[in-house]
Amino acid sequence: MTVKIAFIGLGNMGGPMAVNLHKAGFAVTAVDLTAEARAKVAAEGVRVAATAAEALVGASVVISMLPASRHVEGLYLGDGAANTGLLANLPAGTRIIDCSTIAPATARKVAAAAQSRRLSMIDAPVSGGTAGAAAGTLTFMVGGAAECVAAAQPFLQAMGKNIFHAGNSGAGQVAKVCNNMLLAIHMIGSAEALTLGVNNGLDPAVLSEIMKQSSGGNWSLEKYNPMPGVMAGVPASRDYSGGFGTDLMLKDLGLAEEAALASGSAIPLGGLARNLYAAHSAGGAGALDFSSIIRLLQKKPA
Ligand code: NAD
Repeated sequence: MTVKIAFIGLGNMGGPMAVNLHKAGFAVTAVDLTAEARAKVAAEGVRVAATAAEALVGASVVISMLPASRHVEGLYLGDGAANTGLLANLPAGTRIIDCSTIAPATARKVAAAAQSRRLSMIDAPVSGGTAGAAAGTLTFMVGGAAECVAAAQPFLQAMGKNIFHAGNSGAGQVAKVCNNMLLAIHMIGSAEALTLGVNNGLDPAVLSEIMKQSSGGNWSLEKYNPMPGVMAGVPASRDYSGGFGTDLMLKDLGLAEEAALASGSAIPLGGLARNLYAAHSAGGAGALDFSSIIRLLQKKPA
């Protein structure tokens, strides 16, 4: 029998992930708060619903891809008032996969609440960007019981290429926070090096090739060059639209700071990166892709 999946959150990442599950043959019903996001996946043949309750009818698997902790907590646990949260209404045995990047503590709290209702829940945040989401090549960093992680494999494999079991509930989120802190640092470093080269007369495409083949090579240069005109198909080539929002990166760097405080870890570059992204967001760039941080460093006309 075809597995029915309710997919909640059809933004830059969730939209293409839902489409890949549909293409893999699962019976997906997808939902988002905005009609625009719903229309995009409907155009790819995915069934859409106007409410989460409608999407859940008959579903044995729930997958969510929401912006931040408060959205995930609100969806599953409710707000204590009229909204009772999904967990209260799901049949026992339903498998929940939350792919959002959220605080490890929130992931543990929601998973514990799910378990107390005989629902299985794993945290499965992703890496690979919107291109990886569209191509079905995401990396999943998974936290949860081994049995729940094993049962989620067919769904994760339809959306990604590499699936890592990082540990118990919340461990996927810890891995994701570490990864994104490093991503922010090498994106800022790459933007800084490219801007320095351009200010000293180099062609950024030539400099990018040199650094990619040298000891400065990194993912930002290889897959996500922040300098406009160097790489086709990345946010820098379309005025930093789409992609991974500056405010989402700022959220992740805040999660890194929380994790550092909780564990007494020193993250001097992560802290600096958070401040640079906070300044960039305060300057009005919150909705632009995070590679637009290069604008903070570029000389403006006098
Ligand atoms: P997005 O802002 O593009 O999409 C989020 C979607 O969730 C929006 O369409 C919004 O309307 C919807 N939504 C919010 N609350 C909802 C609710 N209660 N019910 C239904 N829909 C709801 O964000 P995104 O870029 O897709 O990122 C999603 C998550 O993935 C974030 O946690 C982000 O940090 C993480 N992430 C993003 C990228 C990336 O490259 N964009 C990469 C890896 C991880």
